[in-house]
Amino acid sequence: MSDTPLPQATLRADLIERLAQPHVYDLAIIGGGATGLGVALDAALRGLSVVLLESHDFAKGTSSRATKLVHGGVRYLAQGNISLVREALHERTTLLNNAPHLAQPLPFVMPSYHWWESPFYGIGLKMYDALAGKAGLGPTEFLGQARTRACLPTISEDHLWGGVKYWDGQFDDARLALVLARSAAQLGALLVNYCAVTGLHHTQGRIDGLSCVDQESGQSYDVRARCVVNAAGVWVDALRQMDGEAMGRTSKPMVAPSQGVHVVVDREFLPGDHALLVPKTADGRVLFAVPWLGKVILGTTDTPRDDLAREPEAFADEVAFILEESARYLKRAPRREDVRSVWVGLRPLVKPVEDDGNTKGISREHTVAVSKSGLVTVTGGKWTTYRAMAEDVLQKCEQAGLLSTLPASTTAQHRLVGAPEVGAPTVRLSQPPGAHLYGQEAALLASLPGADHWVGPNLSEAMVRFAARYEYARTIEDVLARRHRMLFLDARAAAAAAPAVALILEQELGLPQSVEDFLALAQRYATLP
Ligand SMILES: Cc1cc2nc3c(=O)[nH]c(=O)nc-3n(C[C@H](O)[C@H](O)[C@H](O)COP(=O)(O)OP(=O)(O)OC[C@H]3O[C@@H](n4cnc5c(N)ncnc54)[C@H](O)[C@@H]3O)c2cc1C
Repeated sequence: MSDTPLPQATLRADLIERLAQPHVYDLAIIGGGATGLGVALDAALRGLSVVLLESHDFAKGTSSRATKLVHGGVRYLAQGNISLVREALHERTTLLNNAPHLAQPLPFVMPSYHWWESPFYGIGLKMYDALAGKAGLGPTEFLGQARTRACLPTISEDHLWGGVKYWDGQFDDARLALVLARSAAQLGALLVNYCAVTGLHHTQGRIDGLSCVDQESGQSYDVRARCVVNAAGVWVDALRQMDGEAMGRTSKPMVAPSQGVHVVVDREFLPGDHALLVPKTADGRVLFAVPWLGKVILGTTDTPRDDLAREPEAFADEVAFILEESARYLKRAPRREDVRSVWVGLRPLVKPVEDDGNTKGISREHTVAVSKSGLVTVTGGKWTTYRAMAEDVLQKCEQAGLLSTLPASTTAQHRLVGAPEVGAPTVRLSQPPGAHLYGQEAALLASLPGADHWVGPNLSEAMVRFAARYEYARTIEDVLARRHRMLFLDARAAAAAAPAVALILEQELGLPQSVEDFLALAQRYATLP
């Protein structure tokens, strides 16, 4: 065992007991995705009392369904959104420093098939380097044909001219969310998953609390707070509506959801440690092939949606687009039967004033809006910029007089739970999941029962116990989708592991588990439209 202190246990009975206690919090946060969790950590570090309520599991919404890039956004550079790119490049480095077990640099190669492509894209990427300045991860390089092939051994060689190599980052989004939750909890914040906010309380026209319902017991609780932050992702408008109705007003929707699909295939389709970026697909989008946790993620799409499904389904033409475009660049074309998992996320894009229904043109920047009653809504942005968004939210709360003068934010220097010592060797995120993802907590993991008992590919009994004891896991899905990423990596393998995971969770939590429910979900991830 290491001499690292034991992590905080996440016993549900204790969390609910704290929730039931009468207390006026400085800040109540609705939503446990990247945005809400980032605000919780920043506020807790500044000494505020914080409660965060998540209706499902932490990161069950958009925050577990990203392309896993910690990036400035080459695409946004092409759109001329310099300020967004500069901020994100800066945030990229901060995140890589504060959670090196979960976020790391990743080299990308853009192959070129015409003589002009390398200089054309290379100049843009040199600008990307310049914008990063000291936060740069490595210089952009022009590659000849041989080096392009060495970086991307399975790249299609027909008319291959060369390529451009540049640097960005990648991360494990859901595990990072959990580490944010745990880091905030260590500082005294109360975070409760499976607890939905069902009502907002107002006194004399000012919001001063909320009601929430424990999804396991059905019990409701009232929470009082000086300031309420709505960080419900694509679902923010439902809460804005609730707030508006209490004030006798209607509130205009802010979010225009846009769906992004990813499919996952085996590493043999893209071996090596470089990601592939196709800067312009046949219909003018970008396509990534990213090595991640022993597999390759292919994606993504950008399809406007009107509904806000919890488990959005991919459209057949989105999957066809990803497979067809990948086939143009990879020697061995991934076929439908090669897909191990398909998953979909909804981007919470902020609506422009004139909505033409085309989300590709909508801002990727975040928005913070304070309603007449004082409800602070934050949405939009990117995972990469969650920390800067949190600073902005707290500044707006202060400016609106909802919180008294705050000390400066210290999140930029705050290393997250499990972060290894600076300079300690890390295992690349392209490698299959393992104890390395636990950083400094790997020794504790190794000491738990079942450290050498494997219940699925790269999933030990001890990992399931760790998830139940220290990572707020309540269900098979929590373990197989977000503590371990098996559902996202290989849905059939996840289905096979479910019964064993259920038994361990029942032992740890005393909570009955439904294997059938998980199998139905895994079936969706395993089935292409
Ligand atoms: C396809 C795709 C690819 C992306 N790729 C990247 C990428 O590579 N890099 C990057 O930086 N960004 C990426 N993003 C963007 C990034 O994932 C999102 O910006 C970010 O995850 C949004 O986080 P959020 O917390 O605002 O929303 P969410 O993660 O959706 O969190 C909101 C939470 O609020 C909860 N909630 C809703 N209503 C209630 C209620 N009434 N009570 C309690 N809780 C409630 C929900 O359950 C949810 O968990 C991508 C997004 C998509 C869709």
